[in-house]
Amino acid sequence: HAKACGRRQAQYYNQDISTTAKARFLLESQLTDAIAHDGLSVFYQPIMSADGSAVVSAEALVRWQHETQGFMSPADFLPLAYETGLIAALDLWVLNQVCRDIQRAREQDLPMPPVAVNLSADSIMDPLLADKVWESLQRYQVLGTQLELEVIEDAIKGDSTVLRCTLEELVRMGITLSIDDFGTGYSSLLRLKSLPFTKLKIDHSFIQDLPGDPDDCAITLSILGMARGLGLKVVAEGVEHGEQEAWLQHQGCDYLQGFKYHKPMPVDDFLELLITA
Ligand code: C2E
Ligand code: MG
Ligand code: MG
Ligand code: MG
Repeated sequence: HAKACGRRQAQYYNQDISTTAKARFLLESQLTDAIAHDGLSVFYQPIMSADGSAVVSAEALVRWQHETQGFMSPADFLPLAYETGLIAALDLWVLNQVCRDIQRAREQDLPMPPVAVNLSADSIMDPLLADKVWESLQRYQVLGTQLELEVIEDAIKGDSTVLRCTLEELVRMGITLSIDDFGTGYSSLLRLKSLPFTKLKIDHSFIQDLPGDPDDCAITLSILGMARGLGLKVVAEGVEHGEQEAWLQHQGCDYLQGFKYHKPMPVDDFLELLITA
């Protein structure tokens, strides 16, 4: 009897897998298509000065306007992009789109601050990354100083000469390198010191309960202290209210990012904000 039940379960299970597999396959081909035919879009989230008053840069965040599932955020499709190896192509598409937007702003004489693009481990480990970035800057006549690149700690954990060369080449182009979601991954402070990163972004999970949670205060303070010692700038992610802002300001955090200021928005809204701000 137990066997029979097991068999029936196995059947359902298999059926489940095959429907899921079909759905995933469809989504994968749609994502491939979206990357190839500009079916994605880039939203810009302003990053503010320490007092929260001025936009100093922005982060580019990918969005997908799916034909049947509507607006999809990264959490809905990035895991698939990672698993299927599409993530590097997606990153490159975002980078190109950002350069295109910077060029367009310049053509219209509109101000545009530096923009940070997120890179996956696949991208940062690509030996041809520096060439691809250079090509993109050239194509849209964008200066390296107008670009920042963000990677999470775990993307740079391997010690490879390829990675080191890539990072150094990017820095030579004038690009700022940041560590994203700092504090959530594997990181050796020694490696941090030896690689040419100049900015840390404190993960929003540590910011969320500031200033009420003593552990989060201690963690954030130690990141700020270490960053100051190493000469790194610090961005606090996920700032949502005034008490967080006041505390971070008081502790000398350099930049603030979060819904308290602005949510990610389409490029036209972002450019308009810069004019009226
Ligand atoms: P991230 O790089 O840490 O980006 C910050 C995320 O926090 C964004 O989510 C942003 O919308 C959200 N956020 C900003 N302020 C607040 C706040 O005050 N409260 C809360 N709760 N959230 C806030 P989003 O756009 O959904 O992106 C999620 C993640 O997806 C990003 O985290 C990044 O790791 C990844 N991602 C986004 N675009 C790309 C891309 O082009 N390439 C790659 N490889 N990853 C990307
Ligand atoms: Mg980021
Ligand atoms: Mg982050
Ligand atoms: Mg994050």
